[in-house]
Amino acid sequence: MRETTRRIRASGGQAQPIPVDGVELFALCDGYLNVDMSRFPDVVRGIGDALAAADGQDLDDLAISVNAFLIRTPDRLCLVDAGDGKRRGDQLGQLPLALQRAGHKPEEVTDLLLTHLHGDHAAGLAKDGAPAFPNAKLHVAAEEIAFWRAPEKLDELQSVQLPFAEAALRLYADRLVVIRPGEEVLPGVTVRALPGHTPGQVGFLLGQRDPVLLSADVLHLPALQVQHPEWGFLFDADRAGARAMRQQLLAEAAESGLRLAGAHIPFPGVIRILAGAGGLSFETAGG
Ligand SMILES: [Zn+2]
Repeated sequence: MRETTRRIRASGGQAQPIPVDGVELFALCDGYLNVDMSRFPDVVRGIGDALAAADGQDLDDLAISVNAFLIRTPDRLCLVDAGDGKRRGDQLGQLPLALQRAGHKPEEVTDLLLTHLHGDHAAGLAKDGAPAFPNAKLHVAAEEIAFWRAPEKLDELQSVQLPFAEAALRLYADRLVVIRPGEEVLPGVTVRALPGHTPGQVGFLLGQRDPVLLSADVLHLPALQVQHPEWGFLFDADRAGARAMRQQLLAEAAESGLRLAGAHIPFPGVIRILAGAGGLSFETAGG
């Protein structure tokens, strides 16, 4: 097994601090998705194999990190996404362990910020049919809620994800907070629209001196998509929109130095984008 794959598979249940000013931030590893390149239908074999191998991965046996993030302020404990839950065996659903390793219980979480409502982000909101975080408010973007509340418009792939979105909105209905891009949802945490993967996907921007954008599912595998942002992910609801979003954000991050954290960036999930003569590349940046 290649090095990056081995590291990702070993990281389930881990918590890792990420330096940023203004708040305390931790990456929490829920586990990993074991997939092959069918999840990346645009990948050109050969080029993709070489890029994956250079990053310690294998296109036929990919391990994709599933991360959530914990934001701690003096009076709030906030989870950004909630992992995949215990629906696919022990390779996922390690978020409660990672939370415990960060020193906290689910009951202490005050706020849940959801980037979007796909299962690997929202299924962990439920435990045995009840809210897994009994005291937390659920913050979801208005456009994301609207997307899942019109199931007749969903295509076949998005319909697979519908039960997780519906369960989240139902279980937390009495403490659902609708958020909008540009809003400061917690002190020092600003919502940013990142449409494409889903129409209502949002990220969360933290820090002033060396900011980090929790960028949701703009990237699913940096080893492939930083150099080839045109290579989409199977579950991108709007393939063209997701591609444009990825290209735009990568260009901005290369230009400004903005760090990108992500749910599927190899744990601990933070990279910096570098521009060079050969195009874009990335390095790990924090955690
Ligand atoms: Zn995801």
